[in-house]
Amino acid sequence: MKILKFGGSSVGTVDSIRSVVEIVKKEKQQNHQIILVASAISGMTNLLTKMSEEASLGKFNEKDLENFQHTHFEIVKTLIEIADQNPTLTKLKLLMNELEDLLQGVEILKELSLQTKDLIVSFGERCSVLLLAKVLDQEVGNAISVNASDYILTDNHFGHANVYEEITYHNIQQLVQLHQNKLLVVTGFIAGNTEGRVTTLGRGGSDYTAALFGAALNAEEVEIWTDVNGMMTADPRLVKKAFSLDSLSYTEAMELSYFGAKVIYPPTMSPAFKLKIPIVIKNTFQPDFKGTRIQFHSEPTAYPIKGISSINNVALINVKGSGLIGKLGFSGRLFSLLAQHQINIILITQSSSEHSITLAIHLDEIEKAKKLIEEEFVLEIKAKWLEPIEVEENLGIIAIVGENMKQTIGVSGKLFYALGRNGINVRAIAQGSSEYNISVVINEKDVSKALNAVHDAFFNHLKKTIHVFNVGVGNIGSTFLNQLEKQKDFLANNNDIEIKLIGLSNSKKMMFNENGISFSDWKNALDDSKIDANLDQFIEQMKQLNLPNCVFVDNTASAEVPKYYKRIFEHNISVVTCNKIANSSSYESYKELKNTARKYGIDFLYETNVGAGLPIISVLKDLRMSGDEILKVEAILSGTISYIFNHFKGEKTFAEVVKEAQELGYTEPDPRDDLSGIDFMRKMLILARDNGYQVEAEDVIIDTILPKSCLEAKSVSDFYQALELENDFFEKIKKQAESEQKVIRYIGVLENGKITISLELVDAQHPFYSLSGSDNIISFTTERYKERPLVVKGPGAGAEVTAAGVFADLVNISSIR
Ligand code: ADP
Ligand code: ASP
Ligand code: MG
Repeated sequence: MKILKFGGSSVGTVDSIRSVVEIVKKEKQQNHQIILVASAISGMTNLLTKMSEEASLGKFNEKDLENFQHTHFEIVKTLIEIADQNPTLTKLKLLMNELEDLLQGVEILKELSLQTKDLIVSFGERCSVLLLAKVLDQEVGNAISVNASDYILTDNHFGHANVYEEITYHNIQQLVQLHQNKLLVVTGFIAGNTEGRVTTLGRGGSDYTAALFGAALNAEEVEIWTDVNGMMTADPRLVKKAFSLDSLSYTEAMELSYFGAKVIYPPTMSPAFKLKIPIVIKNTFQPDFKGTRIQFHSEPTAYPIKGISSINNVALINVKGSGLIGKLGFSGRLFSLLAQHQINIILITQSSSEHSITLAIHLDEIEKAKKLIEEEFVLEIKAKWLEPIEVEENLGIIAIVGENMKQTIGVSGKLFYALGRNGINVRAIAQGSSEYNISVVINEKDVSKALNAVHDAFFNHLKKTIHVFNVGVGNIGSTFLNQLEKQKDFLANNNDIEIKLIGLSNSKKMMFNENGISFSDWKNALDDSKIDANLDQFIEQMKQLNLPNCVFVDNTASAEVPKYYKRIFEHNISVVTCNKIANSSSYESYKELKNTARKYGIDFLYETNVGAGLPIISVLKDLRMSGDEILKVEAILSGTISYIFNHFKGEKTFAEVVKEAQELGYTEPDPRDDLSGIDFMRKMLILARDNGYQVEAEDVIIDTILPKSCLEAKSVSDFYQALELENDFFEKIKKQAESEQKVIRYIGVLENGKITISLELVDAQHPFYSLSGSDNIISFTTERYKERPLVVKGPGAGAEVTAAGVFADLVNISSIR
């Protein structure tokens, strides 16, 4: 004997019912004895609830009833042969009339008891089963509908009744005895009390009905047919990367469903557990998929947890007081008070000092709970043994579940790291003593982000998704995006990283796409965007989207963008930047950014601030972290100036060489930013600060290359003119170098916290003599590298290498490692 339960979506449409028919036919072909349990058509229980509540307010809408009727009639008209339609339509119509009478009664009385509500919602299952049985009778034969209210006996807790198992099992056995060769199609969810009134088993209760039938008949299996591929690692509507689980123990399934995995109703596990009857969750729309088997033992998997679930609409109630809590009998009084009034406590935490107890309760019940506690402990509150009761709303819970958790070290560390990195504030924590679950209470708005971040952290064979918000699509920005396009498959296949570009802005427009902006078509998409660029709103949108593992990439040279970094860090979003301005403005703001990034535990990476893609910042950091002491740093860090002096040979004027460098993209838009030494100065400043020195731009001694007239020219073209006029000045330096067999080098030195940048003529013995093209070179003389300094040399400018450096920083963000 097998029990097959079909959920609301499985009986909701013509196609899904056809699928059900196929599944049943297959079972019959294999001579399996089966009983079907069915839910109301999806949405109908909600509709019935709404109609009853509105009726009690005198606002009953006839259209809703028409809609209810229409949904059922349409299925009959499509699936049942014309000759047979009338009897079914008549039976349905009788039920509709009864329902209408009830609703009108509620409307007149303006009163809706839980008892009446149960009766009204029972029409969902009564109607669905009626038509499903008729279709199966026609397609398979011998099917009859059964109203479970006559067999499942409960107490009087309307809305959530408790089942008297023994008598129920007896009734079910008799029912089956009576109809041995019939295909029974039973209403899920509904039951009856000892007086014959309809009760219900709680929302989602059809699963439980199936388990009760399973237990009564000692079935070999209870199958829960639904609209997903079994129980998954998380709700697939909230976590796109959720995947199906092969098996779960009853306890694991229980914990996951208790904390929100709606795919199975928690009480379902109990009758099955007692008789060790397996429950198999299957997909009506993909019947061949094997689904999830819920059984006695937990099978180990490659992961420490089985899944993550979540609940919204949670509130916390804090009961505090040094005078009472921890005293014998207090907790007992508190908990039995809430139990008596049927208020479900989702989770309890108690501080170790025992001065406070925090309870998580469903939002709908929080006011009632607060009132009850205040009334019960009115004297204690007056005497100040207890503080006034506090309530916090707008919360949610996420829970990680798995029996193997207890054998694995670091599970909670992983959970809290993922939450912390993403700026998710934890309001309360509970770990069951069984160690099958850890649940945390967080802000409701963070639930989806938390689920995804934690899912990424635990199921690490899946690709980690990095959500990128890129500002600046000039030379470096567009090269960076092209590189992402080229590398995305490699990253996905070799590094298990999926990069999604979510937000993009240039100085004119911005755009967002939560599903990812195409790397190949971003240009057109941005051109077509209707949203004007606005950094403030860009950051706000980034915050509102509230996605996990976000990185803000600043590919601009703008002084405006860095002003927002602090705010970005405060939203727990890492920053990768090639923009030097943030780190080279005042020391105070440099320090503040560093401290803020540290405080929020996120990354601030700016390798390309010095020497483009060359590993300079990271080498300096590694040297210092490993305890080395930096004695002296000598560097040529202006790729532009290197290029210019390396090409200032023969007939070309100095201005011509500068222009050439600009055309090749080696200079800043205004070449004076390079030639004035400011850009170089910024890099030296960043190096000095990262080396622990508190230095300001004014402290740097710069021997500027440019004559005053060039520096003072109003525009870039005026500057070029002035530069031509000053050609003699540069010719003189060139001649002198040639006559002394030396080369011109612009060298920065950092020693004892002092920075100097000056033009020098160096001979062939100098390590900087042989520098070619636009290369940078940096030499670190340290305690460890004293005799022969550690030298890093290579191309230090150009969009390709800079963009590659930004790219490297992006994949080095520690949240993805
Ligand atoms: P039915 O109407 O068949 O009873 P439900 O809507 O009650 O179906 O339950 C199925 C739904 O449960 C799925 O569509 C899915 O969105 C949701 N769900 C939540 N958590 C999970 C999970 N961990 N695995 C699978 N489905 C889940
Ligand atoms: N129809 C009921 C509900 O929507 C029972 C169920 O679907 O299991 O809650
Ligand atoms: Mg369900």
